[in-house]
Amino acid sequence: MPDHKDRDAESRTHGTIVVVPTPYDAIVIGIGGMGSATVYELARRGRRVLGLERYDIPHDLGSSHGVSRIIRLAYWEHPAYVPLLRRAFEQWRALELRCGERLLIVTGSIDAGRHDSRTFAGALHSCAVHSLPHEVLDAAALRGRFPAYQLPPDMAAVYQADGGFVLSERAIVNYVNAAHDLGAEIHAREPVLAWEAGGNGVAVRTAAGTYRAARLILTAGSWTADLVPALRRLAQPERQVMLWVQPRRPELFRPAQFPVFNMEAPEGHYYGFPIFGIPGFKVGRYHHRREAVHPDAMDRSCHAEDEAVLREGIRKYFPEGDGPTLSMKTCLFTNSPDEHFIIDRHPALPQVIVAAGFSGHGFKFCSVVGEILAELALERQSRWDLTLFRLSRFDAGG
Ligand SMILES: Cc1cc2nc3c(=O)[nH]c(=O)nc-3n(C[C@H](O)[C@H](O)[C@H](O)COP(=O)(O)OP(=O)(O)OC[C@H]3O[C@@H](n4cnc5c(N)ncnc54)[C@H](O)[C@@H]3O)c2cc1C
Repeated sequence: MPDHKDRDAESRTHGTIVVVPTPYDAIVIGIGGMGSATVYELARRGRRVLGLERYDIPHDLGSSHGVSRIIRLAYWEHPAYVPLLRRAFEQWRALELRCGERLLIVTGSIDAGRHDSRTFAGALHSCAVHSLPHEVLDAAALRGRFPAYQLPPDMAAVYQADGGFVLSERAIVNYVNAAHDLGAEIHAREPVLAWEAGGNGVAVRTAAGTYRAARLILTAGSWTADLVPALRRLAQPERQVMLWVQPRRPELFRPAQFPVFNMEAPEGHYYGFPIFGIPGFKVGRYHHRREAVHPDAMDRSCHAEDEAVLREGIRKYFPEGDGPTLSMKTCLFTNSPDEHFIIDRHPALPQVIVAAGFSGHGFKFCSVVGEILAELALERQSRWDLTLFRLSRFDAGG
């Protein structure tokens, strides 16, 4: 679309990007989980939006692949997420209605650990603060109800019936299709090389040209620090691995018999899903082997050491699941120092908005984060309380 690119203007200024009349209302960099929801929300508001993605849509090199992501209301991380979660559920349902495809599968959720663990106590706290219906199950009651779970007697679980999982790649596909229907322009295989803000707008450079817009939204996941070097310490990529195994008793690991789980065990914090989408019971461990990486240099092969840390949890807590390996995939967390999200305006550039540092628990929120980012871009503020996500919270620590 040559009229949206101004190669001449760029060359006239000898490499200095000048802001000329703005053909787009907003440019979104990175069309993964957050970016796909954001282009849709902007297009839904009648805005001219350009989305730029460096790989295919969807792809398996970022943070949003691997079929499924847990969604749960009993949020052990902080009760402040619960109002956003309620909205996220509504928004996922709205997308399902719009696209005619099932994207959110309700299985119930388990948040388990010792009584004083952050996962168990935090989930219970969020239930109390927000009056969420829930049950506390001791290890025997949990096994009686969901026999695949074989937790030791010193662990207990918060069961919350609304939890489940979102189909992550399908969500991205449907957001992009819906955004297209509303007139959004989205380019894949077009990495952003540089961006610059000036006056009231931004200019974004790719190998194909320079695009201009009134607003820029950065949803670049694990590559955020490449685009905003000041965020290097605040959005740190980390290698993760997901494992799918053939259960010995598959009937215990079907969605109707197996709620999604978070489990804080002495060996680590595991999470898992029933069989769905591709064969096998899916398991991961938060912060896997604690490998800080750059996404372009990350080891994307899966090794025996990767399998071993996940097998340890399966063998001990889900022995009926401990069958042959079916699939393994690497993935990326992007961790903030306190593991809460970063959703804020750039401190020096009000026309630029950053959403990053989703710290391994962001996908479930894409449907509400897209809405928040559209509000921040177009209305300058969001109706949601974003205090927990402000960049300024890191100022004091230096
Ligand atoms: C193994 C694993 C399990 C997880 N489990 C859960 C879970 O159960 N529940 C949950 O809620 N969350 C979970 N998460 C976290 C969640 O998946 C992430 O928080 C979420 O996917 C982040 O979305 P994103 O849009 O920030 O990143 P991405 O989806 O990776 O999108 C960023 C996009 O930006 C693009 N990009 C980067 N740089 C450029 C550039 N220069 N030009 C153009 N495009 C660019 C990338 O190619 C990418 O497509 C998990 C994450 C992992 C890795």
